Amino acid sequence: MENLIIVGTGCAGLTAAIYSARANLSPLVLEGRMPGGQLTTTTLVENFPGHPEGVDGPDLISAMHAQAEKFGARFEYEAVEEFEPGTPHRLKIGGNWIETRALIVATGASPRYLGLKGEKDLIGHGVTSCATCDGAFYRNVPVCVIGGGDSACEEALFLTRFASLVYLVHRRDTLRASKIMAERVLANSHIRPIWNAVPSAYVADSRGEVEAIVLSDTRDGSERNLDVKCVFVAIGHEPNTGPFRGKLETDEAGYLRQFQGTRTNVPGVFAAGDVADHVYRQAITAAGQGCAAAIDAERWLSETAAP
Ligand code: NAP
Repeated sequence: MENLIIVGTGCAGLTAAIYSARANLSPLVLEGRMPGGQLTTTTLVENFPGHPEGVDGPDLISAMHAQAEKFGARFEYEAVEEFEPGTPHRLKIGGNWIETRALIVATGASPRYLGLKGEKDLIGHGVTSCATCDGAFYRNVPVCVIGGGDSACEEALFLTRFASLVYLVHRRDTLRASKIMAERVLANSHIRPIWNAVPSAYVADSRGEVEAIVLSDTRDGSERNLDVKCVFVAIGHEPNTGPFRGKLETDEAGYLRQFQGTRTNVPGVFAAGDVADHVYRQAITAAGQGCAAAIDAERWLSETAAP
């Protein structure tokens, strides 16, 4: 029987691990299918307080991991297969059920794709959501980024290091991204924005690699081919609720609902970070929620089920 299990090792899960380990709860932290979360697929994080020169996303995560381990958090490279709420709560990992008094769900969110025909087969063959991971494969060839938010801008700027030209395809004629990011993108001569356009199909060559994308003009529906070797999709995220779906209350968009701080509708289960937040979605807010969830869980344990 565990006192506290934390699911997820992004900013939220690791901060919850640091706080709960320091509260002597000896949390068991499940790394899940994407250890380290979204910061592991970014480069420089410029807005995390305390890092005036910026900090590399993966470095920030490994420092948090080390900090949690130093205080006694235990880590397992397992993902949750099933979840049964109760007293205690039960989680199936690696085919076995384990029990815990309290649980923090910090499973984050995953990149959304376009849902076009053949997309699943093309992922890894010219369709991707991670410039940091795949950008270097596309040197001196044209690529495009889909989206107009901070992620799309960040990806486009990063890709200018490799690609001959980066098209930024956005469905409107103004960027959603923060002003500083938008200004950087629009000032960069290696980035060519294509406004009022949405992708309607992928075009693959005989080897099954992307060679173009069909763009549809949102104003008149006209279509044209854009020759690119890779499409970087940056159109937002879906919450990773997986085994918790149907067991914990969610909002209309599928994000876990929080009541009174980080409490979910199930007593003893807390939610933190992007799995419950579609408003702020920042590394620092995820970390803040991880801290709050650890404090909420610690108080709940001491009130209801003293270790
Ligand atoms: P986002 O802000 O939700 O932007 C998604 C973009 O994709 C929007 O421009 C949206 O268009 C477009 N889009 C959505 N569905 C689409 C579809 N089916 N077809 C074509 N375009 C579509 O997501 P994000 O950029 O991933 O950012 C998420 C959060 O993380 C934000 O709060 C952001 O500030 C933060 N973030 C921060 C940084 C940073 O500070 N360095 C970096 C990355 C992300 P519309 O604009 O028309 O809705």
